Amino acid sequence: MSEIKTILKDYKLRQTDCREEILQVFMSKPHALAHADVEGQLTEQFDRVTVYRTLKTFLDKGIIHKVLDDEGGVKYAICKANCHTEDHKHHHDHVHFKCTTCGLTTCLDHVTIPSIILPEGYLRVETNLLVQGVCKSCS
Ligand SMILES: [Zn+2]
Ligand SMILES: [Zn+2]
Ligand SMILES: [Zn+2]
Repeated sequence: MSEIKTILKDYKLRQTDCREEILQVFMSKPHALAHADVEGQLTEQFDRVTVYRTLKTFLDKGIIHKVLDDEGGVKYAICKANCHTEDHKHHHDHVHFKCTTCGLTTCLDHVTIPSIILPEGYLRVETNLLVQGVCKSCS
């Protein structure tokens, strides 16, 4: 059984061509992908709604996570094992890095977002931190 099929099985997801292909795309790219990037990588043509639903399913299951990019764009990146803390609570308190030269956004999985103290009356749901600069391959 391929790695892709094993992952889908582990997450108790039915195998569909669309799910397999999208997962393959995420696993082969080391950087975050926007909806359009994912669509552009698919060999077979799946309609927008199917791609959207698949991304939503992967998000809900914790296979991928959202990456808030600049220009208000949302991208997605594959979750690494350290997305899951010991109590199996899913969190993404790692920094994202956007390279201004190649334009790619990557997960800095081992760089934790420092804790931020909010004023009274504010409740944190999640924190996103995007660092912009020049990445390792471009510097
Ligand atoms: Zn995750
Ligand atoms: Zn770069
Ligand atoms: Zn990330």
